[in-house]
Amino acid sequence: MSVWVVLAAAGRGERLGQVADSTAGLSPAVRPNQDRPKAFAQLRGRPLLAESLERLEASTWIDSIVVVAPPDWEEPVILLAEELGCGKVVTSIGGGETRAASVRIGVGEVPDEAAAILVHDAARPLVSDAVVERLIGALNEGWDGAVPGLTPSDTIKRVHDQGVVETLPRAELRAVQTPQAFVAPVLRAAVAEVDEATDCSALVEARGGRVTVVEGDVRLLKVTTADDLALVESWLGGSEPT
Ligand code: C5P
Repeated sequence: MSVWVVLAAAGRGERLGQVADSTAGLSPAVRPNQDRPKAFAQLRGRPLLAESLERLEASTWIDSIVVVAPPDWEEPVILLAEELGCGKVVTSIGGGETRAASVRIGVGEVPDEAAAILVHDAARPLVSDAVVERLIGALNEGWDGAVPGLTPSDTIKRVHDQGVVETLPRAELRAVQTPQAFVAPVLRAAVAEVDEATDCSALVEARGGRVTVVEGDVRLLKVTTADDLALVESWLGGSEPT
């Protein structure tokens, strides 16, 4: 089974830039995130994107990678992939205005021979092979799609006009992450429709696709703020690459 990854890395990451004030005294080379898209925010002295690229490259489950780059950053993405020895990176293509548009562009670069496509957020650097294995396993069992999810530890309520409408049964809830894996033709058909869903699975579900949730990983945190970046850095064991 040929497995491709669409790595969505075209977000601007404005929330990261805004919180970089604590580094204002540092030189531009050291200041982490100002004037850079999120994929190039610094994690242990290198672009955030490097972490997921290396991990996907090392995965025995994955054959090829399409990176959806921030517009005008297509070339630096290719240079980074070369520097890291990521030979699975086939294309770096500029993204769209929304995540959904970027994913659509990336899926368009995946050849027809691909059997499965994983869509992953570059903003979640700590992708693990164990999660990828669970996702591929679910596709092999016959699911159209598989997504990693975690049962929330907090009780979740639905609220309208400041009033609680409903307390949701926690055991039935999952906070869903990426990578999300799909049988290639199923994802192609789903993303072809113009929709601004925040995750690909919602598009597949809306068309009647059968999607399962496999066990996720707390370390698949999506980096949104500088605090998230610091947390991921601490999980990796400090500020210096090992
Ligand atoms: O903005 P958000 O945090 O939801 O982004 C999730 C992922 O989607 C990030 O990895 C980001 O780079 C990507 N994205 C994209 N194109 C956009 C917006 C977000 O590839 N226009």
